[in-house]
Amino acid sequence: MNRTTIIIGAGIAGLLVARRLQAAGENVVVLDKSRGVGGRMATKRVAGAVFDQGAQYFTVRTPELASLAADWAALDLIRDWGGAEHPRYISPAGMTAVPKHLAAGLDLRREHKALAVRRTDSGWTIELEDRPTLAADRLVLTAPAPQSLALLKAGAVSLPDAWAGEIAALDYHPCLALLLLLDGPAAVPAGGIAPEAGPVRWLADNTAKRVSPGPGAALTVHTTAEFAAAHYAKTEVEVFALLEAALEPWLGGSRVVTTALHRWRYSEPRRTCRAPCVWLPELQLGLAGDAFGGPKVEGAVRSGLALAGSLEV
Ligand SMILES: Cc1cc2nc3c(=O)[nH]c(=O)nc-3n(C[C@H](O)[C@H](O)[C@H](O)COP(=O)(O)OP(=O)(O)OC[C@H]3O[C@@H](n4cnc5c(N)ncnc54)[C@H](O)[C@@H]3O)c2cc1C
Repeated sequence: MNRTTIIIGAGIAGLLVARRLQAAGENVVVLDKSRGVGGRMATKRVAGAVFDQGAQYFTVRTPELASLAADWAALDLIRDWGGAEHPRYISPAGMTAVPKHLAAGLDLRREHKALAVRRTDSGWTIELEDRPTLAADRLVLTAPAPQSLALLKAGAVSLPDAWAGEIAALDYHPCLALLLLLDGPAAVPAGGIAPEAGPVRWLADNTAKRVSPGPGAALTVHTTAEFAAAHYAKTEVEVFALLEAALEPWLGGSRVVTTALHRWRYSEPRRTCRAPCVWLPELQLGLAGDAFGGPKVEGAVRSGLALAGSLEV
């Protein structure tokens, strides 16, 4: 019987590893704790409006991603969103569209939250919340690095000295995503805006992106890491009250009719690992994700492809 690889995390990194391994004839199971797919490439529906609440677009600098982007564009999953130096892409159906496409045909188990991963004589066991334990020959962890490390720690697995310190130092900036549905148009540029100062670091209108049906603007507001750290536990009403003055010029005189808040504890890595992925044959354990391949969707893609390359050998 073929060996089985379990991949924890159905973000873009984990899904790319899974697709490559499955195409090479391996048995692959992907586990994700959430109900959706795509991790931080997240799209949320609120009161009939549609919001990209994590990644807003992705930029293409490398030939690997350029080649994937050409395939996705041919399937109408993404469209060009301009870009000064490098092309930027969005998904008209929301940023989860590409991960959903990658997940098709995979054994993907949603709402499967891993609590601990343990070594056995012949591989791994994965202890899950409210579900039977699973077994695998190989294990791939693609959650944000602190969450992957917590799973290893819970299973009393130590990483080799050559990697332990560096991986333990991979931490992330937090971000608060405030979603605002307006009763009319906003005054946000069609390509989104990154204000130079203040608590808001990014604003985009999902209706102008044609992700949300309109007619009212559907704004995604991302705060700076400093603001998120200071106000992480506040409610959406409190966060909106704190940001209202900074947001006022962008609302174009329209009224906010609905708000929602998403807290991203792990938004983007503060620093990245020296290697695009880590494969430890002695443990049959791989680690990937944007903390390895570099920040942003492109770094996560790079990391997933690199790990798939190591595993296929
Ligand atoms: C607010 C915000 C804005 C961003 N903006 C941009 C942008 O404009 N452009 C850009 O390129 N990038 C952007 N990014 C970054 C981009 O989204 C990420 O770099 C990329 O999506 C990371 O992919 P990944 O596969 O490494 O990790 P993730 O997408 O985080 O996937 C990890 C998965 O692991 C799952 N998981 C975690 N723990 C467990 C567990 N115990 N059991 C089971 N499953 C688990 C999670 O549910 C998640 O689905 C943004 C991110 C955020 C949060």
